[in-house]
Amino acid sequence: MDYIRIWTEVDIKDIQEHIIMVDDKFGHCHKCKKIGIELKDLKQCPSCGREIKYVSSTEARKGKADIVIRIRKKLPHLTFVDYDDYERLTSKKKAQSLFNE
Ligand SMILES: [Zn+2]
Repeated sequence: MDYIRIWTEVDIKDIQEHIIMVDDKFGHCHKCKKIGIELKDLKQCPSCGREIKYVSSTEARKGKADIVIRIRKKLPHLTFVDYDDYERLTSKKKAQSLFNE
């Protein structure tokens, strides 16, 4: 199977609510700060119960395809979000909310 990045309109808030950051072996829930979450069949955070629909990884910065593919194989039911895109959008949102305060 080949892999390609596809651009689509998204609700960044929905992604933030349902994303998990992972490394090669474990996940990290940004909401309850739980670390060391097993990746196998991951559908919700075992600690806070948050539903997981998206996955990304700091190790996949700059589109490192081998890492993305390894994570995709472990978590095929989750949508892989490009880390650089995610970081760009969430830091833009953070900047906007600072201005609005
Ligand atoms: Zn959690």
